[in-house]
Order: sequence, then C-alpha cells, then structure tokens
Amino acid sequence: MQALTERAKLVDRKPMTFVERLYLWNIFKGMIITFAHLFKKKVTVKYPEQKREFSPVFRGLHILNRDSEGRENCTACGLCAVACPAEAITMEAAERKPGEEHLYREEKYAARYEINMLRCIFCGFCEEACPKDAIYLTETFAPANFKREGFIYGKPDLLIPHPKTGQ
Ligand code: SF4
Ligand code: SF4
Repeated sequence: MQALTERAKLVDRKPMTFVERLYLWNIFKGMIITFAHLFKKKVTVKYPEQKREFSPVFRGLHILNRDSEGRENCTACGLCAVACPAEAITMEAAERKPGEEHLYREEKYAARYEINMLRCIFCGFCEEACPKDAIYLTETFAPANFKREGFIYGKPDLLIPHPKTGQ
C-alpha cells in the first residue's frame, strides 16, 4: 500500500530473541537514567515545608481592607463586581444605622460580600476598579478544599483583622 506521507516508517516485526525477551538490557538502561537523575539539580520543592518564591506581580487571595480605626472600607458600590470578567463577586448592600459609625466608614456597607474562588481568575480587575481601597489581592493562594462551598469566601474570610482588637 502506498504511504500517505513521506514520514511513514516501516516497523520491523521480526520475533524477539531470547535475550531481548529478558528485557535485562532495557531495565539496565532505565536504571542508568534513574541513577543519572540523582546527581541533577532538583526541579521540585518539598511543599508545604518549602515554598517557592512568588513573582512580585503574583496575585493571590483577596482581602477586604479596613481603615486605621478598623472600619470597613467597602461601601458596596458594586464596581468590583461589574469589573469582574468571571462574575465571581456577589454582594448585598445595607444602610449604616446610627451607632454603627465605628464599624463602617461610610453610610452604605456590604452586608454580604462573597467571592467564588473557583470562578476567579485572579486578574486583579476588582482591585483596580475599587475607588475605596477596599479590596486587594495578596500573595496567598487559595488552600485546597474537598467541597465546592469551601471556595466561596465571605466577609469573615476576606476581612483583615481589626487593627486595634486583632479580631
Ligand atoms: S481577581 Fe478578577 S476574576 Fe477574581 S474576583 Fe477580582 S476581578 Fe473577578
Ligand atoms: S470592594 Fe470596592 S469596588 Fe467593590 S463594592 Fe466594595 S468599595 Fe465598591
């Protein structure tokens, strides 16, 4: 039969000899390759004891920022959600009540703020869109989880600790 291309290769199908069927030479060649790798520079690291250095432009998990008095910066304006190409951010806005001035910096705040880390592509557009310095991407990456719900990060996961109480 005529070959379709000139790259066709004729395979030798003659029966293997007794020595070839022992595979000793091939095993020996494989061991040489394995042994040679013992002296090469390792390309892997022993994670999690050892961690790789991230690039200065690495974008990881998000944080929601507070001001110096511990009040939440986010005013639930929704610009981050609009800018998000993955539609990973959802929020519910609420009005600040009298007596809550120590909790929220402005009259409006996010009663619920969630980021779906399975949808997020860590592009950083939310950080760029935010006019209130409220959302930042850090150098931490999302830890593993067995359930999808574990990747929905809410305010308790995202808010940085209070600068005065540490909670
Ligand atoms: S980093 Fe990008 S994909 Fe992730 S929440 Fe922000 S805007 Fe959306
Ligand atoms: S994080 Fe910033 S952009 Fe997003 S809702 Fe809050 S204030 Fe607006």
